[in-house]
Amino acid sequence: MNNTLSGVIEFKGVKKYYGSGEATAYALIGVDFTIHRGEFVTIMGPSGSGKSTAMNIIGCLDTPSEGEYLFEGIDVGTLSRDQRALLRRNYIGFIFQGFNLLGKTSAVENVELPLLYRGVSSHERRELALEALRSVGLEHVAHHTPAELSGGQQQRVAIARAIVTNPLILLADEPTGNLDTAKSIEVMELLRAFNRDKGITIIMVTHEVDMAAYASRTIHFRDGMIDTKVLS
Ligand code: ADP
Repeated sequence: MNNTLSGVIEFKGVKKYYGSGEATAYALIGVDFTIHRGEFVTIMGPSGSGKSTAMNIIGCLDTPSEGEYLFEGIDVGTLSRDQRALLRRNYIGFIFQGFNLLGKTSAVENVELPLLYRGVSSHERRELALEALRSVGLEHVAHHTPAELSGGQQQRVAIARAIVTNPLILLADEPTGNLDTAKSIEVMELLRAFNRDKGITIIMVTHEVDMAAYASRTIHFRDGMIDTKVLS
């Protein structure tokens, strides 16, 4: 991966549709944007406007029907499924509204999981996972299961899991959607710190204007397009 100032992420005329003929559903109808290294960007827009579709493409879980998605200059649409999985594993961290932790597995083992897929030794896995938990203020509950933790703590474990691999970008899909205001602020402060101190590029979908205020820029979607009429 080169280290130029070009966009870490570029959408060029990205269209995404499902089905064919009269039944075709258009999720994205021509989207262009660039996100640079180190940015903290939110994606907002009404339900059905294409936010999840765009996030799935950014996260290399899906590819455009037309147009190009460039990740560090690489046209992701030309990669095989396995190559996309590698790109995801090596460069992208994910955080979800529902935390998505393994319920019967301790916090530290949850955080170790992405390292297991990368073939890191068990000793190093444990050290890195504990360090990641420390960075979210949760080393003291490393051996608790998710059920023994509050929602805010669970999301912080999920953040530790997302950053333990030192990703280039962090994708967050409504990370505070299940949290009260105080817990939401804790989570947003953490994300802001990882963005500022580690330079991790963050892209976050949110419905909440208060949470979007943590980002430096908002991209608004409407009807499968970028809504340029909304000022951010
Ligand atoms: P948002 O995340 O903003 O709510 P989505 O990206 O989920 O929007 O959806 C955008 C549009 O694409 C919606 O009209 C949705 O019904 C449609 N869509 C999304 N995924 C599929 C799919 N797998 N099959 C058919 N239509 C889909």
